[in-house]
This record gives sequence, structure tokens and C-alpha cells, in this order.
Amino acid sequence: SKKERLDKILSMSGYGSRKDVKKIIKQGDVTINGRIATDAATPVDPAVDLICVFSEPLIFKEYVYIMMNKPKGVISATRDLRETTVIDLLDGEYSHRHLFPVGRLDKDAEGLLLITDDGKLAHRLLSPRKKVEKVYYVEVRGHLGEDDVKAFKEGIFLGDYRALPAKLEILKSGDVSSAIVTVYEGKFHQIKRMVKARGKEVTYLKRLSMGPIKLDESLKPGEWRELTEEELRALK
Ligand code: URA
Repeated sequence: SKKERLDKILSMSGYGSRKDVKKIIKQGDVTINGRIATDAATPVDPAVDLICVFSEPLIFKEYVYIMMNKPKGVISATRDLRETTVIDLLDGEYSHRHLFPVGRLDKDAEGLLLITDDGKLAHRLLSPRKKVEKVYYVEVRGHLGEDDVKAFKEGIFLGDYRALPAKLEILKSGDVSSAIVTVYEGKFHQIKRMVKARGKEVTYLKRLSMGPIKLDESLKPGEWRELTEEELRALK
């Protein structure tokens, strides 16, 4: 079992900064296994010890899993001096955790972005060996046709690298086209480069799913929520 300082556990559970929770402990509002806690440094294991705050049992989450509908104009990073990041959009709600986005979406792209502090899960989702399926809705300047479908299926050359076979399902074909693209890897600007290799240009890009997790379409751009138990089960 893993023991952590009481004040760290409380802070990770959303009761405020270390300073805030030390105050709550001092007031006598925290108990460990029925006894009032007096020392913020007391080692506790939330899986074993019953911790109560204001007489309510603490529900400790080892990790947090968030889905965001990433809006345009925001970067997939934790902190940046000039740009707004996806972590900024969480509005400090999880400021006592080290959350980070699972992979990247371009600044001008929208859609599903997972955010977590579970490094192992992130690693699994991003590992090239796992070939996790990612589905995008894409709008393109230029005509998408059956030749493009075939090229995507065969694996498009991107400079010195041949992309894995991908699926292109055309929704609308014209001077401006739209499609659903499914890929099993996550190279830098992957979709934009694949479309460009076919002589066309992406004008809008939105990620619809990553592995078993589908974007909750009730989330407007910039909105987010924690994953449900069911989504988490599918992911693990
Ligand atoms: N492909 C891109 O070109 N950009 C993204 O953000 C994701 C996939």
C-alpha cells in the first residue's frame, strides 16, 4: 500500500491548497479512522484508512480522467506564457493534480481530447505499437474522390514515411468536400499532411473518438466532464 501525507491527499481531493487543508485539519474537522487528525504530515493510505472531512467520508480518486471538447485557438499543453492551454480551461478545479493532455490536437483543431494524471494510461493510448484507432471529421478545400479513398487505404507517403493504411469515408464531394478519416497512429499534423499529399487542404478538423472513447456531443467547444465509470472500464 502507498502512504501519502494527509494534507496532500486532502488537497488532491479538492479541499483546496496545502495551506487551506492545513487550516481544516487544525480546526479539528478531519478524522482518520474515527480520531481527530492533528498533524498534516500524518501518513495515510486512502484505500485502507477511513478519512472524514466535515464528518463526510472522503472519496479519494487516485487519478482523474477528463474528456474535453477542445475549442479552436487553444493549445494542447499544460502551461504556456502567451497561449491559452487546455489545462487553463479547467479553471483551476484540479490545480492540485498534475494533469496533462493525452497527445495533441493542433491549435486550430477541435474535438475530443483526454486529459489525465494517469501516466500509464496515457502511455498505452499513445504507444505506436497499440495502434489505437482515432476518428476525425474533416472538411477539405478540393475534390475528394475514390482515388483518394484508395490512396488512404494503401498508405500515403509523407516525405520519407509511409503512413499506415487509413480509412477515408467521403460524406460530401465537391469544390469543398467533407469526410470521416480513421487512422491508427498519431504523427505530427497527420491528417493535414495526408490530405496535402493528395493535393488538397484541410479547412476544418475535429476529432470524434480515440480508442473506445467517443466525444460527448453535448459538450460545446471548451466544455469538459469527467469520464463515466463505463467509459473508464472500456479504456482499461
Ligand atoms: N491530424 C492533424 O493534422 N492535426 C491534428 O490535430 C490531429 C491529427
